[in-house]
Amino acid sequence: MDRVVIVGASLAGWSLARSLRTRGFGGSIELIGDEPHRPYDRPPLSKAYLAGDLDLGGISLLVADEDVPVTWRLGVPAAGLRDHTVVLADGSDVSGDAVVIATGTSPRSLPAAAGLRGVHTLRTCSDADALRAAFVPGANVVIIGAGFIGAEVASTASKLGASVTVLDASDSPMAHVFGPSMASVVTSLHGINGVPLLTGVSVAGFSSEGGAVTGVALADGRELPADVVVVGIGVAPATGWLADSGVALDNGVVVDAAGRTSVPGVWACGDVARYPSVRAGGSIRVEHWTHAREHGAAVAAGLLGEPVEYDPVPYVWSEQYGVMVQFAGFVRPGDDVEVVDGDPSEHRFVAAYRREGKLVAVLGARIPRTFVRLRRELAATP
Ligand SMILES: Cc1cc2nc3c(=O)[nH]c(=O)nc-3n(C[C@H](O)[C@H](O)[C@H](O)COP(=O)(O)OP(=O)(O)OC[C@H]3O[C@@H](n4cnc5c(N)ncnc54)[C@H](O)[C@@H]3O)c2cc1C
Repeated sequence: MDRVVIVGASLAGWSLARSLRTRGFGGSIELIGDEPHRPYDRPPLSKAYLAGDLDLGGISLLVADEDVPVTWRLGVPAAGLRDHTVVLADGSDVSGDAVVIATGTSPRSLPAAAGLRGVHTLRTCSDADALRAAFVPGANVVIIGAGFIGAEVASTASKLGASVTVLDASDSPMAHVFGPSMASVVTSLHGINGVPLLTGVSVAGFSSEGGAVTGVALADGRELPADVVVVGIGVAPATGWLADSGVALDNGVVVDAAGRTSVPGVWACGDVARYPSVRAGGSIRVEHWTHAREHGAAVAAGLLGEPVEYDPVPYVWSEQYGVMVQFAGFVRPGDDVEVVDGDPSEHRFVAAYRREGKLVAVLGARIPRTFVRLRRELAATP
């Protein structure tokens, strides 16, 4: 193997490139990315970067003194894949002995919002720039979706002085991640920070003037005034360009435990990949930072012929209203949850989830020592 082509110049693709080099790979690595930028970190886009506390240089994933020789092909999307040849939207193509798909995800939007100024999603630094400009003091901001991104953007927008309302179609937002009792502990951060959270409401449409959004109409007849709307209703794997590639797709690119797709010599890693997980009891696609980095490194090892059985305990952190929330594992309905440290009412706690007595997940806020101990225990639990 002399030439590796990576599509997607972000965390997973860059982690893969770095790992190939640190493992001694001396062939060529080409990184194709549709964004014009070299890889940067996305978590700050809803936090410090959005708040204006960091610039693009401050969130670069490239380490200053590190030499990772790669050829960049930035600013042009991949439009198709034929065997080991990636066809770019400008008509050029790039071939490799191996191709790695690391195109991540794209935010879902609402069809009713199409073309309306003032309605945003958040995935890229340009999206964050547009939001920061819109979050002026006093602006009416409506956030649709109380998941991780919605909650973080709400927290940052309110810190910037905007008047923020969060709404969610679920009666119990985040319950699918944390279970109902602990989800309400986390989502109560909105209310105690002066941000109303409306649950069990759905969006019927938008009102506008001159092509710019002015309000969000709810199915129950209410109308919320809005200068800015942020749609945070989840993401879809960025696989449209693979439609005719022969690569098996199923809500993501289907890979084995080493990252191989159904097409020999084509691999995938990061948010876009769906991999088999014994821990999860089925195949999963994980949309968290730590996974994207570790999966990139694992797939690099697989590419170089090392045996790889990737199946870690997923981990995510989130910063909301100055509280760092950390979660590891998988929760299913019916799991027992017990607060083992701190006090949830103070948003300083660690909760352990058990299934038939076995530790399956841990949630923590502001007691890192206990969280880390239980996360280690979880990782050591088969
Ligand atoms: C605002 C925000 C905040 C986040 N905060 C956290 C957090 O606090 N904690 C946490 O654990 N995780 C967080 N995440 C998730 C984390 O950033 C992702 O899991 C991670 O970025 C996934 O990396 P990836 O490389 O797999 O995909 P991505 O980062 O999505 O990168 C994929 C790249 O491929 C490019 N691409 C897509 N299609 C094509 C194409 N056809 N041709 C060429 N290039 C293409 C995309 O433009 C992108 O640059 C956050 C994500 C966002 C957006």
